[in-house]
Amino acid sequence: MGTIDFRAIRPYLPAALLLGFAFALTFVLGPLAGSLAASPYLAQFAPFVRAVAPLLVAVGLLHMLWVSWQLWRAERGLGLLCDACSGPLGFERVGRASRGGAYRKCRCCARNVNHRPYEGL
Ligand SMILES: [Zn+2]
Repeated sequence: MGTIDFRAIRPYLPAALLLGFAFALTFVLGPLAGSLAASPYLAQFAPFVRAVAPLLVAVGLLHMLWVSWQLWRAERGLGLLCDACSGPLGFERVGRASRGGAYRKCRCCARNVNHRPYEGL
């Protein structure tokens, strides 16, 4: 019996938001697409409702796969890891020089990790 690792919820939030927005477009705005097309002001949004939801689902699923792959790698100690929770680190961001320069944000605990430890400086 495994326990739920709550650190893994945060990396999946963007994908969950994309899927939730796609759900809202499909099941809330989808039935309204006919009346949207009839409206002179909202007619331009009617094709948007049908075309964007599948795209959001595809992007959300790709993001879930990517996050799962990153968490799988972090679980095996591969890649750059957070020293507090050993979660995967995100892309490098340009930081302020007064605060130590470039940094990466942990995808699990949102901690900022300075570039010096992982670059070995
Ligand atoms: Zn962390």
